[in-house]
Amino acid sequence: MTDQPTSDVREDVTPSPSRFAREPRVRLPAGLVYKGTTYRDVVVDRRTGYDDEAIAGGKAGNNGAKAISMLLQRCILSIDGLVEEKRNRFVRIDKRIVEALSIPDRDFLFFAIHALGTDPKIKVSVKCPEPDCSQMNPRVLDVRDLEIVYWPDGEDLVLRDISLLDGFEVMRKQDEWTSYKDELSWHIGNGKLHEDLGGLPDHKVATSAIAACLRLPDGGTIDTETARRMYSTDRDELLRIVQEESPGVDLVSDCSCSLCGHEWSARIDPSLFFGGGAQEPTRVSKRRKSARKKKRRQLRKR
Ligand SMILES: [Zn+2]
Repeated sequence: MTDQPTSDVREDVTPSPSRFAREPRVRLPAGLVYKGTTYRDVVVDRRTGYDDEAIAGGKAGNNGAKAISMLLQRCILSIDGLVEEKRNRFVRIDKRIVEALSIPDRDFLFFAIHALGTDPKIKVSVKCPEPDCSQMNPRVLDVRDLEIVYWPDGEDLVLRDISLLDGFEVMRKQDEWTSYKDELSWHIGNGKLHEDLGGLPDHKVATSAIAACLRLPDGGTIDTETARRMYSTDRDELLRIVQEESPGVDLVSDCSCSLCGHEWSARIDPSLFFGGGAQEPTRVSKRRKSARKKKRRQLRKR
């Protein structure tokens, strides 16, 4: 790299509002749709001892998504047009609201709350994906370095035009199988689904997420058995698309292993910060990464 900024570099510089600032007033990247209306502007509070105790006290069980719900019910102080400013900051907001928040917005709010604290850094442990290594690599994440991707106003939280390599078959009528591969879509999940997935053992999360969110070209859903029958390459590809094309905090970051020197991209899952869970690696293809950058540029131009 030279010191001369090229036009491409300049294009990739994110304007300041799409990074975390130490500001209690934040704008939801996806937007909360509640009873048909979209709400975007939220005021959050810093964490208190009350929150630390509620989360660590076992009320959320081992469910990181439930812990995020509890944190949000307490730390959301107001939502413009929906939740009036709390007179008492220790009163929780309606659970239905945090359940209606999309998973990307919930993750975003977790970091927005964290950014209000004195230490913007978060320590995580990332497992090396090389099978003969599996070294746990400590990593420090600075909240201020995270980029936020905003979803356009009034657009459904749906990732469209998804194509798979092999696809899958669904029995629509008795003994009548239909193949699906292209024009699939993904409906981004909400807090209710987040909590349901958070309560499952790790190896069942992908199947349940795919069954809950994937839609056929005619809008139809699939069951868990169909999701289970899909090739792993297609399942991995689906989860990659979701991680990289969803709005919200860009949690995909470059990692390198201190033991074997392997380099890869991993996605950090905020719900794993509760309960000390290790961050499982998610490999991210180079092709997808550049596609995401392109998409971001398009979104920014709007
Ligand atoms: Zn390694």
